[in-house]
Amino acid sequence: MAYDGSCHCGAVTFSVDGKAPAQAMVCNCSMCRRTGVMLTFAPRSTLTLHSGENALRGYTFHTRKITHQFCETCGIEPFAYATAPDGTPAVAINLRCVPSIDLDALEIQRFDGASR
Ligand SMILES: [Zn+2]
Repeated sequence: MAYDGSCHCGAVTFSVDGKAPAQAMVCNCSMCRRTGVMLTFAPRSTLTLHSGENALRGYTFHTRKITHQFCETCGIEPFAYATAPDGTPAVAINLRCVPSIDLDALEIQRFDGASR
């Protein structure tokens, strides 16, 4: 099973192997409070980028452990590259970029990124 996502203009398209999540992490850090992303974390290996590799721009701040990936045309952040606690490459998928997911049905897990 996999689920598909994209940025707004459609330059960046991707799919993630696995079942669509029922939970999302919402964070209150200086970045997330501005972008409003709803995130799920997955192993990097589960992400397949179908288009838009050259359209993505990276942004880091604070501890620089997460590289936010933005479409250079529409400015939407479909995902961010991160590292799992065990050191393996991970990806944080912005579930707002996955049209098949019912955002209102997601169980929200609040993360206090502002205090980190
Ligand atoms: Zn775009």
